[in-house]
Amino acid sequence: MPAITADTLTLPRLPELSESATSWRGVRRIVPARRFLEGEGFQVRRPFPGVDLSLADPFLLLDHMGAVEYGPGEAKGAPWHPHRGFETVTYIIDGAFEHTDSIGGGGLITDGATQWMTAGAGILHNEMPPQELVAKGGLFHGVQLWVNLPRELKLVRPRYQDIEARDAALLSSVDGGALVRVIAGTLAGHDGPGVTYTPITYLHATVSPGARLAMPWPEDFNAMVYVLSGRGTVGPERRPLEEGQLAVYGPGAAITMRAADTQPANSPTGWEILVLGGQPIREPIARYGPFVMNTREEIIQAIEDFQAGRLGQIPAEHLAHRTSADEKLT
Ligand code: MN
Repeated sequence: MPAITADTLTLPRLPELSESATSWRGVRRIVPARRFLEGEGFQVRRPFPGVDLSLADPFLLLDHMGAVEYGPGEAKGAPWHPHRGFETVTYIIDGAFEHTDSIGGGGLITDGATQWMTAGAGILHNEMPPQELVAKGGLFHGVQLWVNLPRELKLVRPRYQDIEARDAALLSSVDGGALVRVIAGTLAGHDGPGVTYTPITYLHATVSPGARLAMPWPEDFNAMVYVLSGRGTVGPERRPLEEGQLAVYGPGAAITMRAADTQPANSPTGWEILVLGGQPIREPIARYGPFVMNTREEIIQAIEDFQAGRLGQIPAEHLAHRTSADEKLT
């Protein structure tokens, strides 16, 4: 089962924007994702962090996992590891991730569901494919976004928000050619379910071949589009943007994008994109693996706290499954 779908003709519509009277954002840069291995060795495509992290602020990292068809025994995850100083947002389009944490949380993220984890002061967790997916193999496709926290919120109490696929606010483009799922934040007055410390808007849109998607966008947010699959163009200047590429828009009050008339065979529904932006935090960033703080001293403190068990403890029933790899700061 993939991400949630709906008949766009029955949904609330985005407002029609005047071509001439709207301040459209131009495209400032196109960035290709680079490939990395994460956790036990699953491949991710990562458009940021790249050369200029300030373009992505308040976001720290985007990991695009799959889409991949796992054979039996191939599915991999990320065993027990800590986080401090930011939030992770995991959106699973196909397949599933199972998570367990040091504050008694746990569950399955699957089929268009989102898990919002505020690591804040500190948490230990694992993110693993369910046994059934490991045993039988199957399709897996998901995204993990890291959202920074400002200095005064870095050590907030950890919390989870489990957002089911049906909780997302669904909207359509003006002509019904695009479906927009609001995962977090607000779009044109429609609120998504995710409650965020740092103001952001995070959407997954499916744009039918040849269809246009245009929307108002807060002027104090940055604005980016990342392509999960398919091809299209971004901005009034129609810069081409295809799978695995990120577009960063410049200033303005609205963004526009368009799906190409023909789509590749791996994207039969159209152009699948994430649209995201937020209010830049503009503070110094010190990062080391799973810790993102403001200063080097705070990173050293985080490592000491982790080693002393102050970021939490692995629940006793999971200790038997530990391996030496769990000690790594992944
Ligand atoms: Mn993690």
